[in-house]
Amino acid sequence: MTLPIDEVDEPLRSVKLAEIRGIVAPRVHPIGRYRRRAYEHLEPTTARCHHRSHDAPAIECTCGFHAVRHVDQLPEVTTVVADSVVLDVELSGTVVEHEHGYRAEQQSVLGVRFPAACSWCGAEATRVVAGRIWRSSCARCLTGARRGRAMTRADATARLGVDVVFDRLPTERRRHHVLGSLRAIGMLGLALLPLLLLGRADASKVTAAAMVAVVLCSAVWCAATVLARSIRPHRSFFVAQSGCLFAASLLLMAATP
Ligand SMILES: [Zn+2]
Ligand SMILES: [Zn+2]
Repeated sequence: MTLPIDEVDEPLRSVKLAEIRGIVAPRVHPIGRYRRRAYEHLEPTTARCHHRSHDAPAIECTCGFHAVRHVDQLPEVTTVVADSVVLDVELSGTVVEHEHGYRAEQQSVLGVRFPAACSWCGAEATRVVAGRIWRSSCARCLTGARRGRAMTRADATARLGVDVVFDRLPTERRRHHVLGSLRAIGMLGLALLPLLLLGRADASKVTAAAMVAVVLCSAVWCAATVLARSIRPHRSFFVAQSGCLFAASLLLMAATP
């Protein structure tokens, strides 16, 4: 539901989910559909619409910088993924107010809140570990390569250029992991169907071997989905399983007279 569109005189404090990626040049990435484009987090930024040629945010569009008022509202508007951080942002310029949050023309990142719980064991975190995804860690879990990439809160603040704190943040819901796992098992079942049907067709040994290989691949992606620590890679695994299903269907069609 869309509520008023407004010019904001005073900058509006709000929060949003994101993730920090990269060791050499860390960037702040939005999570969700637009996660491929990093946020400029050191300077105030003006939103651009990636769909149409109008100023963002437009009332009839979805463009603009999205944010909500309170951390507790984040699970209502987006899927919380493990190891996400919360950005404290200041919105300004034109702001569209929705039932659950805002879309704004300008955004400045004021700070980054990392989960107060260690990503690996859930104990109280005291360090931030840089990596493909930056994570919170307790002292006990700083083993191996992690130790060399670990930073204090002050070091992480210096490295990112904005204030870093630890905070109790919404966590990934178990339900999403269960649903992702059930979907993966369903995809494996669908990939098994062509294999069973191939048994009735007069397929060559090469086709049969290829089909078995494809189904095994689907089983591997299914296991990876079920065993994943977070739902973050689930979408990529689903695409891989879809590819396996497509390949299995092609093999069945080729073998069926
Ligand atoms: Zn737009
Ligand atoms: Zn730990």
